[in-house]
Amino acid sequence: MLPLNFTQLPLGILGNIFFSLGRLDMEGALTARDRVGIQDFVLLDETTEVAVISNLKKRFSKDLIYTYIGTLIVSVNPYKDLDIYSKKQMDVYMGVNFFELPPHIYALADNAYHTMLTEFNNHFILISGESGAGKTEASKKILQYYAVSCPSTTLMNTVRDKMLMSNPVLEAFGNAKTLKNDNSSRFGKYMDIQFDSQGDAVGGHILNYLLEKSRVVHQNHGERNFHVFYQLVEGGSDDLLTQLGLERDVQHYYYLTQGECAIVSSINDKNDWKSVKNALQVIEFDETNTSHLFRVVASVLHLGNVHFDPDSKGHALLKNNTELNWVSDLLGVDANSLKEGLTFRKIEAKTEQVLSPFTIDHAIYVRDALAKAIYGQTFTWLVNRINDILKFNIFSEQEEYEAEGIEWEPVQFFNNKIICDLVEEKHRGIISILDEECLRPGDATDLTFLERLEEKMGNHPHFVTHRLADKMTRKTLERGDFRLLHYAGEVTYCVVGFLDKNNDLLYRNIKNLVCQSKNTIVRECFSAVDTTNKRRPETVVTQFKNSLQKLTEMLMAKEAWYIRCLKSNESKQPGQFDEALIRHQVKYLGLMEHLRVRRAGFAYRRKYEDFLKRYKPLCPATWPHWRGMPADGVEVLVQHLGYLPDEYKMGRTKIFIRHPRTLYATEDAYEK
Ligand code: ATP
Ligand code: MG
Repeated sequence: MLPLNFTQLPLGILGNIFFSLGRLDMEGALTARDRVGIQDFVLLDETTEVAVISNLKKRFSKDLIYTYIGTLIVSVNPYKDLDIYSKKQMDVYMGVNFFELPPHIYALADNAYHTMLTEFNNHFILISGESGAGKTEASKKILQYYAVSCPSTTLMNTVRDKMLMSNPVLEAFGNAKTLKNDNSSRFGKYMDIQFDSQGDAVGGHILNYLLEKSRVVHQNHGERNFHVFYQLVEGGSDDLLTQLGLERDVQHYYYLTQGECAIVSSINDKNDWKSVKNALQVIEFDETNTSHLFRVVASVLHLGNVHFDPDSKGHALLKNNTELNWVSDLLGVDANSLKEGLTFRKIEAKTEQVLSPFTIDHAIYVRDALAKAIYGQTFTWLVNRINDILKFNIFSEQEEYEAEGIEWEPVQFFNNKIICDLVEEKHRGIISILDEECLRPGDATDLTFLERLEEKMGNHPHFVTHRLADKMTRKTLERGDFRLLHYAGEVTYCVVGFLDKNNDLLYRNIKNLVCQSKNTIVRECFSAVDTTNKRRPETVVTQFKNSLQKLTEMLMAKEAWYIRCLKSNESKQPGQFDEALIRHQVKYLGLMEHLRVRRAGFAYRRKYEDFLKRYKPLCPATWPHWRGMPADGVEVLVQHLGYLPDEYKMGRTKIFIRHPRTLYATEDAYEK
């Protein structure tokens, strides 16, 4: 929907790599090339898209899914289990320089961790790619690597277990089967791990943003609701289901069956339920919390089965009370008030209250809004609880280039201001217009929203719709589409559902009701919203924008590492490399631009002390000891080695080297 479909996993970590190349590429380059392609795109003779894709393809056919662009990792989803994530493999990568081994996500994780420890700065890993490309898997692999490779103390073990175990819980509540991915994350996630100076993990924090709440009440064909619903119905014990009034039959629930694919062969809901229950224990959810959590999940299922019939005037009447009574019981709210809230709107006039009856459509709308709100708030509550358990302090860090006094054109991934303004600008941006439409009383629809966009954005060079487009472009757009021309490529959005997805405001009588819920989770969620938010409630997109702002601030304060995930084919099949699909992603993810930046920029850097320590044997003036300042020693050393002036720059604490070949030559000299 919105232009951000990526997962972030920073790890209060990561740093500076500068040996990022496979040794294989440098030595017998020919053999390495024939066999497995090139391990680092920076070393390709040609920087054309064709060359890049052909290299990826060659490597993919040999199950080599990782390739570097300097320090960035390109990963192609193999859709099969590869034997490259074993403990043995982890050991191999531990404490080893990038360039000594074939590209691996562990190499990045390891380097990041060690750089953090030697340079005492914060880092983050940004994982991006389209749905199903492997972002979540990549983040899990990294977490597992840290879990195994970081030194362990008792404290560390607890944090580690909790961090790892929060994953299945968050996935149960936040992931769902979609057409693109059987385990698609339907929320954005930023995860932070904090390490102390010994390298022990001592805390963590998760920032979530914009759960796709509309999925709770509606799923497209071939898609499912969030996993947890199916897990509970399939895996919950007989006793539990009886307590919750549930039948052991997913087909029985309207909210679970709209996509007509409640049972999926690749998913074992029963087993997953066990993992989730186990995980809840590890993250210290006590019995009361756990039971209240399951009651919320069950109440949503019952709500979905609350149906309405028209009375003689076409007003909504409850079909029967059974499901409603269950909702009332599970949430601990008064059944009559709930019934009233679902079928009437209370209008407060000066001296009296008037009850205005709903049509059936309106009643369904209110029922769905309640289900979405309960589930959405509970998800936020869950993340907050997990954060309480992982608590730590965030500390911020200066931008390295600035600190080093080197001028550096920021890599353009974040330099997308025109588009950001287009989306976010107050009163004029897409989000504001959407919010206005949502709050406008009367007949606002997705299409009036589109019209409003056209009115206000018609002249914007980065915005186009079917109506505004020229003849050629129009062929590529449907009527309800608008397109943003992002830096890395264009993205088309369909307005259908925008208003609904953004609009989940609850009527006051329903809100009052849930505020008094006897279910502590629900009560906590809603009374918190109510007391802190006296102003006009924030709509979903505004909430999203705000959390995104927080996120961007955090990310800007850290050193970046990138993993770009590519989807190999649309059918989730192993061994298939769909070139057109890959080409699209190479474009969309801006890989060619990144390659150019890497080849042109000072891609490799190292602290003076470290550089000197390693290479001082290469120069008589620095061997065996350099008595002066390390920076001066490095200057003497590189002069001696014959570095050309534009090949390197001296920063405040580090030397920056433009091209890997310079460093290779030095490394070669060192080896001899
Ligand atoms: P979304 O944006 O929808 O959340 P995603 O990028 O997080 O998508 P994943 O859930 O990580 O995608 O990956 C989708 C599926 O692809 C996984 O369930 C798994 O089957 C397969 N997959 C991804 N990465 C790997 C890998 N490294 N090895 C084997 N299979 C993988
Ligand atoms: Mg995911």
